[in-house]
Amino acid sequence: MDKLKSQIDREVESLADELFAVSDFLLRNPETAYQEFKACDHLSAVLHKNGFEVQKGVGNIATSFLARPSGCTPTRPTVALLAEYDALPKIGHGCGHNMIAAASVGAAITLHRLLQENAGAIALVGTPAEEGGGGKVRLAEAGVFDQMDAAMMFHPSSVTIPGKGMLGRIKFKIEFFGQSAHASGTPDKGINALDALIQTYNSINAFRQHMRPDGRVHGIITHGGDAPNIIPDYSAALFYVRAGSIAYRDELLEKVKQCCKGAALATGATFNIEIDEPAIDPMKRSPSLEAAVASNLKELGIPISPDDGRRGSSDMGNLSHYLPAVHPWIAIVDPGIAGHTVEFRDATTSDRGRKTLLNASKILAMTALDFITSPELRENAAKDFAAG
Ligand SMILES: [Zn+2]
Ligand SMILES: [Zn+2]
Repeated sequence: MDKLKSQIDREVESLADELFAVSDFLLRNPETAYQEFKACDHLSAVLHKNGFEVQKGVGNIATSFLARPSGCTPTRPTVALLAEYDALPKIGHGCGHNMIAAASVGAAITLHRLLQENAGAIALVGTPAEEGGGGKVRLAEAGVFDQMDAAMMFHPSSVTIPGKGMLGRIKFKIEFFGQSAHASGTPDKGINALDALIQTYNSINAFRQHMRPDGRVHGIITHGGDAPNIIPDYSAALFYVRAGSIAYRDELLEKVKQCCKGAALATGATFNIEIDEPAIDPMKRSPSLEAAVASNLKELGIPISPDDGRRGSSDMGNLSHYLPAVHPWIAIVDPGIAGHTVEFRDATTSDRGRKTLLNASKILAMTALDFITSPELRENAAKDFAAG
């Protein structure tokens, strides 16, 4: 390992207790999307104590922040290390964002200590609301990443891989409007909004056979009527479409609209579709940044697993269309234990979780260092970005 990377290794180890404390604080104080006030305050305080200037509320989001090393003029290239810290309703940190925040904080502090007055190339961005809400979309649209050249973060997982595809996603509400009537006395006067919605649901199920393997449509019925003796004049559902490309994601939404149209025609009901939150784009991957991550994993002796092919979505996908981005996954549980569960949450502070937190921090710091110091890597990342 070269000298600076061995130094990263040692610095992160020396921060272990502080990083575990950050992760534990977030775990004990879970806050859902856009409510992460305690997390934002806590992370800002830790960064301030470690020599960072912190600006809270960037991009007009109350719970976001931007931290840069004090006394260093921001320079280009700049690497944005990302901290997520929103939790899931009921489960808390079942996605391990407590570890994500702590790992990026560790990487930023380490690089500041290492690069000293040259640490102007480091920024840490606190990005709220990854679990629905699209915080990174809002930050990017507000220009927070305009003067930055690459973005990096990690997610804990059941596999260790330098990157994988993530699906684009649109969340939307479907509503049908009919005509209420007595379900027994005057059924001929009614227009059944629930029938229209069930017809739509079944049409989507039939269409599923013809979907590409990367396509997903899934949803729940949130309103199906008010009483069995009243023909429902209103029904509602929440759905997601997901796909590996923006074009196919949008095509799937159009197909769902066609299913609604068919059901409306058959039942006489009318419908409305409303997009619920910012659309999520699929991840634009950077093979050269992923290769840098892979080589750092190797340096640290961390084995890389085969890609399990499991795909979710993240607003990191949107950000990857603004600037080159890399998003490794590092295991804290064995395959078979899923994310968004109590078991996964508890694993974030297990011995393996602790070890992964430090490894993730090292990987981020090492890869950021590669990006800052290697013009060749920057050039290749730019080529990946232009090609993707
Ligand atoms: Zn997550
Ligand atoms: Zn998640």
